[in-house]
Amino acid sequence: MSKTIAIANQKGGVGKTTTAMNLAASLAALEHKTLVVDADPQANSTSGLGINPKEVENSIYECMVDGVPASEAIVETDIDYLHILPSHINLVGAEVEMVSIEQREDKMKIALDEIRDQYDFIIIDCSPSLGLITINSLTASDSVLIPVQCEYFALEGLGKLLNTIKIIQKRLNPALEIEGILLTMYDVRLRLSNQVVDEVRTHFKRMVFDTIIPRNIKLSESPGFGIPAIAHDAESKGAVSYLNLAKEILEKNGFT
Ligand code: ADP
Ligand code: MG
Repeated sequence: MSKTIAIANQKGGVGKTTTAMNLAASLAALEHKTLVVDADPQANSTSGLGINPKEVENSIYECMVDGVPASEAIVETDIDYLHILPSHINLVGAEVEMVSIEQREDKMKIALDEIRDQYDFIIIDCSPSLGLITINSLTASDSVLIPVQCEYFALEGLGKLLNTIKIIQKRLNPALEIEGILLTMYDVRLRLSNQVVDEVRTHFKRMVFDTIIPRNIKLSESPGFGIPAIAHDAESKGAVSYLNLAKEILEKNGFT
């Protein structure tokens, strides 16, 4: 059994990449074969997992636009059980280049279908937009995990995202589920953080993960070393919280 989860929210800076990297690394630490697909032209999860985007030969772009097999683009990371299908800045142009291609919403799904069986989990780090690349990511996924930052305007744009998910369920991927809403960058000292938690839980109830990701320096500094937090400081609150998220997802999906 293999499960593909898209990490999506068209808002930038809410913790998509941090979640993709650290959830994937935690699943790998629990010995589940995991692939990160970097579907953001900014290539932050690519560099965050120690791959220089400038040296990437084949990226998700070549897989989607030129039909290069995913197996020829996937590279190993320094973490056991963790591979990455990297991104490259030229992914920026893919939306325009793909406009005239047939089945343009299915390109990522087709690319991933070839290698899906080799992984327990595929985690897609989406770009901060609801454009064609993100539509491809959602079409290629079994579920979507939505990070929400414990900040002002936390719920802003969420209606639009949920509406996009509905349209995709209707037209492109009827099996797409919502894995859950993840509260990120929580600061126990801030009243605002607690207000956001209450508001999101009241509004979305059981859709919200029990695990809350705290604001933690190890999570923000580890990409600079090209490693996930669990490899940087496994005891840190940030690393432990993502390990708990991984366990919550495993349990929810009947892996344990
Ligand atoms: P997105 O991919 O949604 O744009 P990122 O994951 O890149 O968001 O996070 C935005 C910034 O916030 C990054 O600098 C990241 O290191 C930092 N960040 C994300 N989550 C946390 C956290 N829980 N604690 C501290 N810093 C975080
Ligand atoms: Mg990102």
